[in-house]
Amino acid sequence: MNALVLQSYNNVEYTQVDTPAYAPDEVLIRVRAVGICGSDVHGLDGSTGRRIPPLVMGHEAAGVIEALGDAVKGYEVGERVTFDSTLYCGRCRYCRQGKINFCENRRVLGVACDEYSQPGAFAEYVSVPAHVLYRLPEGMSFHEGAMVEPLSIAVHAAAITPIAIGDSALVIGAGVIGLLTLQVLQRAGCSRVYVADIDDDRLAMATTLGATETFNSGAVPLADEIIARTDGLGADSAFDAVGLSETTNSAVYSLKKGGTATIIGNYSPKGELPLQYLVTRQICIQGSNASSGEYPACIEMIQNGRVAVKPLLSKVAPLSEGARWLDTLYRGDSGLFKVILEP
Ligand SMILES: [Zn+2]
Ligand SMILES: [Zn+2]
Repeated sequence: MNALVLQSYNNVEYTQVDTPAYAPDEVLIRVRAVGICGSDVHGLDGSTGRRIPPLVMGHEAAGVIEALGDAVKGYEVGERVTFDSTLYCGRCRYCRQGKINFCENRRVLGVACDEYSQPGAFAEYVSVPAHVLYRLPEGMSFHEGAMVEPLSIAVHAAAITPIAIGDSALVIGAGVIGLLTLQVLQRAGCSRVYVADIDDDRLAMATTLGATETFNSGAVPLADEIIARTDGLGADSAFDAVGLSETTNSAVYSLKKGGTATIIGNYSPKGELPLQYLVTRQICIQGSNASSGEYPACIEMIQNGRVAVKPLLSKVAPLSEGARWLDTLYRGDSGLFKVILEP
C-alpha cells in the first residue's frame, strides 16, 4: 500500500510499505481522511522523542472497515468509522476503572517512543482493535470524522476542570485544540471565554467562533488584562493549549484564588513555576492527557453543530502531497488550521 513514512528525522517520503496485518480482535480500516496534528509537525525533527523513525504517523482519522479479524463481533465490512488514537488494553487496573488514557499497556497510533512503535493512519490502511472503533453517523463526512480525535482532547480537558455555569475562562493558544476548547467551554456553561495568542489571524478565528474577547499576548500583559476584566479577581479556569513555560505561567497569573490551570499543550519537557504564588493563592495546576471515553459526546457535538469544525478545516490534500504540507506547517506562519490528507 502507499504510505507517508518518516524515514529519518525531517525526511518524509510517500512510498510503498506492507499493508498492516490485523489480529483476530482487530479490523483493517481503509483510511479516507487523516488530519495532521501539531504533535506530528513538532515530532518531525526528533525534538519531542515521540516520532522515532521509521514511522507512519497520523492519529486523527476516519475511514471504512475493509476487513475484520475472526473474533470481531458487531461490525461489518463497509461501515464508516473513526477510532480512538489511544490503543488501550481494557484489562489493566486503570482500564477497568474507565481511565483508558492511563492504560498500563497504552500505545498511541502513529507514535514511536522508547517503549513502542505503533504505525498510524498516514497510509491507505491502518489496523486497530475493534474496541476503539466508533461509527460515524449518517451525514457526517470523513473530514468531520477526522476531527473527532482533536475534539476529544478539548472535551477531556474541560471535563477534568471544575466549571460552573457563569464562569470565566481563558484559553491560551488559538490553534485547532485551543479553538475547540473555546467552543467546548461555551457549551459547558462558561459565560465568558477569553482567548490569547500571538497571531492576529488566529485570534480573528477565535472571535468568529464566539470568544468574548481576544488578546495578542505578544502585545499586551495578558494576566493584567484578564484580571481587569474579572472584577480584579482573575479567571475561574485557564487552559494552556501551547505548553511552554511562558504560557503556563500566564495561565497561572490570570487565575483567581482557588482557580484551576489545565495544561493541554505538550511542547516543553520542563518549565518553571511560581511556587509561592501557587501556594498562597491555592491554585490547582493539572495536566490533561488525551481523552477517556469522550468520543461519543464529540461525535454528537459535531453532528448537531454544537461545535463547529468546518471553519477549522483549512486544506484538503492527497496523501501523496503530505510531505509538502508537513513541511509548510513545520515552517510556521502558514495561516493554516487543520490540514486533512486523503489517501
Ligand atoms: Zn493529535
Ligand atoms: Zn489498560
